Amino acid sequence: MKGENAEILIVDDRLENLRLLLNILEREGYVVRCVRSGEMALKVLENTTPDLILLDIQMPEMNGYQICEQLKSNPKTRAIPVIFISVIDETMDKIKAFRVGAVDYIKKPFQVQEVVVRVANQLTIRRLQQQLTYQNERLHAEIRDREAAQQQLQQLNQKLERSNQELEEFAYVVSHDLQAPLGTIASYAELLENRSEEHLDAKAKKYIGNIIGGSLRMQGLIQDLLEYSRLGRSRDKGFEMIDCNRVFALAISNLAQTIRQTQAVVTSEGNLPRVWGNSIRLVQLFQNLISNGIKYHQEGKPPVIRVSAVLQENDWVISVEDNGIGIDPKQQGRIFKIFQRLHTETEYPGSGIGLAICKKIVELHGGKIGLRSLPGEGTTFYFTLPNVNPSRNEKELQCKNHSD
Ligand code: ADP
Repeated sequence: MKGENAEILIVDDRLENLRLLLNILEREGYVVRCVRSGEMALKVLENTTPDLILLDIQMPEMNGYQICEQLKSNPKTRAIPVIFISVIDETMDKIKAFRVGAVDYIKKPFQVQEVVVRVANQLTIRRLQQQLTYQNERLHAEIRDREAAQQQLQQLNQKLERSNQELEEFAYVVSHDLQAPLGTIASYAELLENRSEEHLDAKAKKYIGNIIGGSLRMQGLIQDLLEYSRLGRSRDKGFEMIDCNRVFALAISNLAQTIRQTQAVVTSEGNLPRVWGNSIRLVQLFQNLISNGIKYHQEGKPPVIRVSAVLQENDWVISVEDNGIGIDPKQQGRIFKIFQRLHTETEYPGSGIGLAICKKIVELHGGKIGLRSLPGEGTTFYFTLPNVNPSRNEKELQCKNHSD
């Protein structure tokens, strides 16, 4: 290895040795500095940090071992490699040399090539060590940064969760408190309509009718909002293994009247999975999606709804497919948001909350909801539910019930 501007400090009390080493090493391209005593060496090292020190052992006042010990006890000079130089007839204690911290030794009279190779070796090791230290530091800094970012994200998430909870709490309180005054408005309007009929002209009756209609609609909206904000509270957390075939049957039975009236055909393949969930909420999920499929049917075409399930990796994907009016892809991003409707009340009555509830239920079960649809070509809503190990979860549930 050539010098690459590495700096070497030579400490030797004999001038001829210093000259010889200086010549050899400068020829190799190193920046060389020579001193003739341990004291001078320590002084020089207060202001510079060479890449390597060549240190004579036998020197008056302070010998090489003592100097080396001092260097190794000082954090500023500890990392500088030290090579001892010793005359052949001196009894060099190699064990002692390594114990005080030297990395190598060279015997005098030295062969030029040996000095060059030993110095180059130690400089290469030092350079690699420095690279390793630098890489380690960078890695640690990166880990620290990542941990800090993760912590920040966690804090943000917690904040978001808190404000979501507060918002839901607020929606709950407001909708709950609005119910009573709204009920009063509706019942007084009804009273006015019933008891004072003979004093009212047609216009007044129409206005009262509007008040009653508006109040009833608002009562419906508030009921839905209450339902939405209640979702996810403690009673929804009672999970058990549930047969989706039963969930489907219950949803169908709740919708029996609508199905009869619309002559809808609602089928399932009969092989729906068993999943880990809350049965009331899952019935509500199936029912909302099936009733939407019925409600948004095409004029003159009886609704046909098909419910099916496939296993994809670790999730069950359950689909509710209809032959209805379909949804414009540009509008599909909106429909899971609360109160977002694509139709007017007169076209299709509704509150725009059903799909928001579906999304919340699916997420409560650790799944995702989505859809595929084109206008005029029907819609397929699909949602995922984790495919869990039934025996494990039933055991967990039993343990929980015992501890309750
Ligand atoms: P609502 O039915 O009360 O309006 P939803 O949240 O259930 O509320 O649905 C939001 C909107 O998504 C609906 O207004 C409708 O435009 C559209 N939509 C939902 N389901 C279907 C469906 N199966 N086919 C076509 N459009 C649908």
